[in-house]
Amino acid sequence: MGIPRTKEEVVERYSRVFPRASRVTYTPLVGVRAENAKVWDIEGREYIDFLSDAAVQNVGHNNPRVVRAVKEQTDRLLHFTFIYGFPVEPLLLAEKLAEIVPVRGPKVSFGLSGSDANDGAIKFARAYTGRRTVLSYLRSYYGSTYGAMSVTGLDFEVRSKVGELSGIHYIPYPNCYRCPFGKTPKTCRMECVEYLKEKFEGEVHAEGVAALFAEPIQGDAGMVVPPEDYFRKVKKILDEHGILLVVDEVQSGLGRTGKWFAIEHFGVEPDIITLAKPLGGGLPISAVIGRAEIMDSLPPLGHAFTLSGNPVASRAALEVIEEIEERGLLTRAEKLGKYTKKRLEKMKEEHELIGDVRGLGLMLGVDLVKDRETKERAYDEARKVVWRAYELGLILAFLQGNVLRIQPPLTIEEELLDEGLNRLERAIADVEEGKV
Ligand code: PLP
Repeated sequence: MGIPRTKEEVVERYSRVFPRASRVTYTPLVGVRAENAKVWDIEGREYIDFLSDAAVQNVGHNNPRVVRAVKEQTDRLLHFTFIYGFPVEPLLLAEKLAEIVPVRGPKVSFGLSGSDANDGAIKFARAYTGRRTVLSYLRSYYGSTYGAMSVTGLDFEVRSKVGELSGIHYIPYPNCYRCPFGKTPKTCRMECVEYLKEKFEGEVHAEGVAALFAEPIQGDAGMVVPPEDYFRKVKKILDEHGILLVVDEVQSGLGRTGKWFAIEHFGVEPDIITLAKPLGGGLPISAVIGRAEIMDSLPPLGHAFTLSGNPVASRAALEVIEEIEERGLLTRAEKLGKYTKKRLEKMKEEHELIGDVRGLGLMLGVDLVKDRETKERAYDEARKVVWRAYELGLILAFLQGNVLRIQPPLTIEEELLDEGLNRLERAIADVEEGKV
């Protein structure tokens, strides 16, 4: 069949060899080359990537420093298994991660995806505490493997077909725009914290709970940011019962929100952190990072993969971290995030379709609604905005069917960010005016 020539041909051939379970698509985007925040498709069309490749490219697509290190490493050593030997690259990476994580005395276990990292976190937490129950949040997303799927609170259709881990309980995530308790900021009494206490008085025996899994900002739920003191209050309750706090930083970690880890905005120290997406700058690598005594609770090969700690992916990850440090990308994410949020807020003043703008740093969501009073989700309109943006050369996606996902690389040039925002506003206006 040979190399395909057009996007139509690629899309058609995709449908023949890939099951629908492995992907979701909104637009026929066939990216063949990328540089920082720009992507070119098979027909040579240029796009601005406001998705960072699904929150992967924090230091930009094909970051030159990462590419250089990968080339140098591939010439020397593609792989040397970590499970029987002592490759140096994963050691350097683990030591570097230990310097930046807000976890005291950490040890690191490497894997290949956010999903397997979360599976590992379930295993380490259960082994260390000797408890089986795991608490998680409704609308959370932790991945696709059995454990990660089982703690995910977003899609229950798959597990109804394939089964799941037992002992998982869900609580509502604090959401100040669509409060699960029907409260407003004025009437809020932190019912979300009270709910956890009540859960322990009724349905769930607290002393049997190994861990609470939490995204510090719920990503796939639509960029939901909890109140500033929420996690402090929750951590206090967890500590009273010896329950671990596992924080999933797969989407929010490595500078995305203006700090190394999003949980640092909320002043608590988690027991375990999971990390993936941006870590390898586009290469597959993940990490479970936890207090040493927790991470030492499984026997040899209790959580190990033949390819984990791959030297090339580890080298790439080290360069990603050093790039963030040397270019001051935490400060840049905060600064560009504030600027972007201000522009989105301004758009909200002019476009009724926008119900809410939220997020931290460059992890932002724009909640599209049919009616600002009822907050009815604008599903059709969101699909049309993403499509129109694609036509205008802007890569976007939506979450929960109606929340636009805005996560450009932390390295995006300021003019390109502005141009992307102009295209976004034009797409929203075109949908409002019925042009799409
Ligand atoms: N955790 C979060 C918060 C995510 O957003 C994702 C992916 O979207 C995952 C875990 C799963 O990561 P992966 O797709 O690398 O398995």
